[in-house]
Amino acid sequence: MTSTIDILSVPIQNVTIEEACSYAFQCIDEGKTTAIATANAEMLMRACHDDELAHILQQADLVVPDGAGVLWAAEQQGCHFKERVTGVDLACKLLEEAAVRKTSVYLFGGAEGVADMAAANLQRKYGDVNIVGTHSGFFTAEEEREIINDIRCKGTQILLVALGVPKQEKWISNHMYELGPCLCMGVGGTLDVLSGKSARAPKWMQEHRLEWLYRFAKEPTRFKRMLALPKFVIAVKGNKKAK
Ligand code: UDP
Repeated sequence: MTSTIDILSVPIQNVTIEEACSYAFQCIDEGKTTAIATANAEMLMRACHDDELAHILQQADLVVPDGAGVLWAAEQQGCHFKERVTGVDLACKLLEEAAVRKTSVYLFGGAEGVADMAAANLQRKYGDVNIVGTHSGFFTAEEEREIINDIRCKGTQILLVALGVPKQEKWISNHMYELGPCLCMGVGGTLDVLSGKSARAPKWMQEHRLEWLYRFAKEPTRFKRMLALPKFVIAVKGNKKAK
């Protein structure tokens, strides 16, 4: 794999989306159980106070630079990521390639019906994507055993887990070795986007690193979560001074 850039003690791979995708399929071809995480400012700030999450991110097979804040933080250290690799874009790239290779995909997470809607849209978009199962992200302990069995029995090769941060990262870390050889990726709100339940920011906002503003405008209840952004700026600046 390529080099990493450490942001607040989390090593993030300096990869393009193409490189991340080919690494993922190399792991799938080798039958390797793999965990992918998509780092943004909110996740990295959480990891500063959540040792379990920090450890998971430090041990993950691949952490990609998802958020614009992560690119900015690298620049503060005089480094540059080759490009931003968002969770939605990487998930779409994997799904597109999975459709060609007939790789088996399982969609896990989101409100009731969201994963099914996402699956139906993906069939329309990519033709023959082999979605072997779906399950909502709200479940009892008993149902969780059934979900794990279902993922394994169906020979899942790519598992997209949309339970929100840090639940999805912890779920993957706790259960990845019970699922059979499988590439697991935490995808946050991606299934909501793929289902059509929520929309992505317009391209120009993405390009100007303003996706956070769009999400805030659409969901003002995210206000509390967004307080992580100024805290992230302060932490990165503080880290720079300390060096
Ligand atoms: N979610 C879930 N189970 C839970 C908590 C959350 O399935 O116990 C889902 C929720 O419905 C949403 C996703 O996890 O689809 C989290 O989306 P969010 O927008 O918070 O993720 P982000 O993209 O901001 O990381």
